[in-house]
Amino acid sequence: MPKIPRWWWILPLVLIALFASLQLQGTGREMRYDELLAKVRAGEVRSVVLDGQTVRGELRVDGESDDAARPARPSERHQTTFTTARPVDDDRLVPLLEEHGVRIRVIPKSDGSWMTWIWLLLPLLLLLSLFARMQAGAGGAPGAMAFGKSKGKIFTQRDISVNFDDVAGVDEAKAELREVIDFLKNPDKYRALGARIPKGILLVGPPGTGKTLLARAVAGEARVPFISISGSEFVEMFVGVGAARVRDLFEQATQTAPAIVFIDELDALGRARGPGNMPGSNEEREQTLNQLLVELDGFEPLGEGRGVVVILAATNRPEVLDPALLRAGRFDRQVVVDRPDRIGRRMILGVHTRKVPLDPSVDLEVVAQRTPGFAGADLANLVNEAALRAAREGRDVVIMDDFSHAQDRVLAGLEQRSKLIDEEERKRVAYHECGHALAARFGGSGTKVHKVSIVPRSVGALGFTMQLPERERRLFTRSQLEAQMVALVGGRAAEELVFGEASTGAADDLRKVTDLARAMVLEHGLSEAVGPVSIERRTTYLGGLGGGVEVGGKTADLADAEVRRLVDEALRRARNILETHRERLERMVEVLLETEVLEGDALDEFLQA
Ligand code: ADP
Ligand code: MG
Ligand code: ZN
Repeated sequence: MPKIPRWWWILPLVLIALFASLQLQGTGREMRYDELLAKVRAGEVRSVVLDGQTVRGELRVDGESDDAARPARPSERHQTTFTTARPVDDDRLVPLLEEHGVRIRVIPKSDGSWMTWIWLLLPLLLLLSLFARMQAGAGGAPGAMAFGKSKGKIFTQRDISVNFDDVAGVDEAKAELREVIDFLKNPDKYRALGARIPKGILLVGPPGTGKTLLARAVAGEARVPFISISGSEFVEMFVGVGAARVRDLFEQATQTAPAIVFIDELDALGRARGPGNMPGSNEEREQTLNQLLVELDGFEPLGEGRGVVVILAATNRPEVLDPALLRAGRFDRQVVVDRPDRIGRRMILGVHTRKVPLDPSVDLEVVAQRTPGFAGADLANLVNEAALRAAREGRDVVIMDDFSHAQDRVLAGLEQRSKLIDEEERKRVAYHECGHALAARFGGSGTKVHKVSIVPRSVGALGFTMQLPERERRLFTRSQLEAQMVALVGGRAAEELVFGEASTGAADDLRKVTDLARAMVLEHGLSEAVGPVSIERRTTYLGGLGGGVEVGGKTADLADAEVRRLVDEALRRARNILETHRERLERMVEVLLETEVLEGDALDEFLQA
């Protein structure tokens, strides 16, 4: 198959542009109708073309005699041609033209200028090009390669000017990525020690939190080229093209090293394979994904004789990724890029107002406080909207009022998230999370609460409480498991205590606590009423059923009642704890609503005995 030059499809476009400009050249300057009549009367018009309602024509050049047959030189033509639209039913022009000896050419309507033809041919050309693309995609490798490159979607950027100062409020992610920058800058240090540096790092977080920005900033900080490609662009491609593109990507990377390779929106191409997908429809994606896995496996970040290549990828849907992508030696490191807390938002606002003249009335602290749930991109948008409003109103500084208006606008575009701004809901979430924390601390679970947050998370949850066991455990006693259950229902208990009723926010907790109770009763024989028998066994790791013991209806009822009793008991204990520490709970919630995150000393203070 002959190799199609990558720019071949430009040809028809160039031709069209050429024709169009020729046509335009003939049109010259626009002239009013009355002006035209005046010029004809003054004998200044040499010839006209009547084309429907349009009159195109040429003026006489100064001093030119009436019968001058010489064609105007192009340079003159350019200045002397004109177009005029004439009224419908105009019957004055033609007699007037005749009277003054102007040459007249008429273009009959049906004739249609060749522009018409172009419009007819255009769809055909488009179809042809589409067809050629399909051929290139499905056909042999050369075509695919040519096309794979031709779309030019692999961007290589050198001298990226973004650096870590441009990314705010994601300090943990930045700290993790500093290491990567060090690899890129001082590879010999790692080579000498024979250290294996991570191959792929996955940035995970909700949309607009600055994942793409961070990846670019890493390249900017390390001063290495940034080679990027977006997963979503693979989806629309024809079979074989994506795989070729992936190959290209890695080839370019090794040639350009040291470099950063960035695959944005990895989920678009890295979605889990297998059942549930329409057969055939995902062939392209599977091929692309397989190629990516192959390239990742064969890739050595610290290749001999060249600089380091680090592969970054970003996704806001880690849960749909094919697990194969996350295996050791592939994207085995994940960096969480979460929505910013209040202080983070204040810093992001700082970054985006660096070049915006602010009125002294603007208090970014207050703006940050009023924008819970906003991601970096939303804040950037907010600042921009505020500046736009100031400009619309003709001011040269942005005032606080601009921010308030801008916020309404931005919120309107964020419908779903705007719910998180609901004060009532924030309060409920705060009580819920503090309830977990206090129940964990005083329920005897022996775990340490590390962090309490009401910053909305990536995956659905409105807040979270992070507890870690004080030491690694492999065996749990009954009382330890019961204490875990108390911690799990602490959120619901707090809601019931404070608001008189629970909400849907505790569903996940309930599922976990029920699972735990069931395991205690049915698997571990840890309930007195049912006794030390194992009624249900886990499915074996080979996928077969573990062959549970048949139990009579009576035992099953008893087990159900036991599960219920255990959960009720946990709830009762959690409520007791919270009632005892009610005052502590209130103080904690107050601070949490203010800061959105509690950790370290600030948290320990509330959890002291
Ligand atoms: P993501 O890739 O996570 O969806 P982007 O990196 O594309 O988000 O962010 C879009 C824009 O929002 C950025 O170009 C930047 O202007 C702004 N932005 C997002 N997060 C931050 C942040 N943490 N600090 C500063 N600006 C940010
Ligand atoms: Mg992005
Ligand atoms: Zn909870």
